[in-house]
Amino acid sequence: MIFYKSEEEIDLIRESSLLVAKTHAEISKLIKPGVTTLYLDRIAEEFIRDNGGIPAFKGYGGFPNSLCTSVNSHVVHGIPNDNNLINGDIISVDCGVLMNGYFGDSAYTYCVGNVSEEIKKLLEVTKESLNKGIEKAIVGNRLGDVGFAINNYVSQYGYGVVREMVGHGIGRSLHEDPQVPNYGRRGSGIKLKEGLVIAIEPMINLGSSKIEQLSDGWTIRTVDKKCSAHFEHTIVVRAHKAEVLTSFKEIENILN
Ligand code: MG
Ligand code: MG
Repeated sequence: MIFYKSEEEIDLIRESSLLVAKTHAEISKLIKPGVTTLYLDRIAEEFIRDNGGIPAFKGYGGFPNSLCTSVNSHVVHGIPNDNNLINGDIISVDCGVLMNGYFGDSAYTYCVGNVSEEIKKLLEVTKESLNKGIEKAIVGNRLGDVGFAINNYVSQYGYGVVREMVGHGIGRSLHEDPQVPNYGRRGSGIKLKEGLVIAIEPMINLGSSKIEQLSDGWTIRTVDKKCSAHFEHTIVVRAHKAEVLTSFKEIENILN
């Protein structure tokens, strides 16, 4: 069942989403060779709690930490650990916040030190594919238009679009209906209406789209062990242009 949100509810999701964006900005300052993902996780948890939020992922289905940190071939749901990040790595950081009863959710893939041009291109295309999807998230379009736009944009580069993992509705729950796949047929799926709040999150692989789960019960990895990128925004469907509730602005002010 899809819960369409009132403007009052959207205001609350916006607040949670802003805290997610600020948490990302804090983390982005720290990402460099030698840092551990467990350290990033601890800083994120403190920052979220200091700002009146609750880390949404901690304890979700038994997930042990506040961030999902997925390095290189790890696609999503990586568990923070005490391994050092290494020059040339990429790391997807996924962060969720619960505040005032509503969730916000956003992911960004960061470079650690100097990353190859091939991988930088993967990140750039994945981020742009998210924008392509957001452009289609307007009243009157259908959900399939969003997935089509993402997949259609990415496929020209020969990358693999992960199909088993999808975006989602978000609000009082972290994961609500509808599922938001990163592929689709134009004109198919539910009609998009005002008040639909969704997290759009393309997961794009340098090589094959095939993925597998590690024995830790969480981490999703590419089968061919090539790198994967992940970008996510929480957005509201609007009449002429979707409103993006999370933000990469603060992250990118720091990175540039
Ligand atoms: Mg997320
Ligand atoms: Mg999500």
